[in-house]
Amino acid sequence: MSEDRVRDEDRHRAKMEKRKAAQDAEVAGKTIEKGLLIVNTGPGKGKTTASLGLMLRALGRGWWVACVQFIKGGWDTGERHALERFGTQVSWHTLGEGFTWETQDKARDIAACEEAWAKARELMADESIRLIVLDELNIALRYGYLDLDAVVATLSARRPDLHVVVTGRNAKPALIEAADLVTEMGNVKHHFSAGVKAQEGIEF
Ligand code: ATP
Ligand code: MG
Repeated sequence: MSEDRVRDEDRHRAKMEKRKAAQDAEVAGKTIEKGLLIVNTGPGKGKTTASLGLMLRALGRGWWVACVQFIKGGWDTGERHALERFGTQVSWHTLGEGFTWETQDKARDIAACEEAWAKARELMADESIRLIVLDELNIALRYGYLDLDAVVATLSARRPDLHVVVTGRNAKPALIEAADLVTEMGNVKHHFSAGVKAQEGIEF
């Protein structure tokens, strides 16, 4: 090996050792264990998909998990079929008729959201469940169909080992404030704007 190459490898090794020491020290400094309040928001695609990924990760750990969909799931989705295979380990709820912008019946939408929220609280009280996804809860909050303060207070008072994932665009600042982990999906490019329709296996 040339001397230059040896020197280069030594430098690289020294640099990596230093980086590893810094990283080990940082990891060692993080000792808190807790159930997280996670929010996936923003205009880009991936909010619900990412929450399903977390469900899969939790299922792989042998945990019991749940999902409440606040918006009517009219579509026959791939995830539903996949998760059904886990049997009772997954508790999946698309509440009542849910609500969509297609209904234009505010009173009925509010009732559906309240029913979904009641189900969410029931699941949160079930100590066998370790992770709950509240899909599109942000939309119900945005429309003012649920009381924001009450929802944030209940989520904040969840038992210490329970992970809750809230999805949907336009997360309310009070929810963001209460959350431990907030991810904003950015819309760099979406195939819809090029006239491509919702694709099986990708969108549903
Ligand atoms: P997904 O369920 O695919 O993870 P999402 O939860 O981030 O998407 P939603 O706001 O719930 O997004 O919208 C659901 C549907 O809208 C999906 O079919 C998704 O492909 C589509 N969508 C998401 N983001 C955009 C966008 N920026 N432009 C157009 N359509 C979008
Ligand atoms: Mg979604």
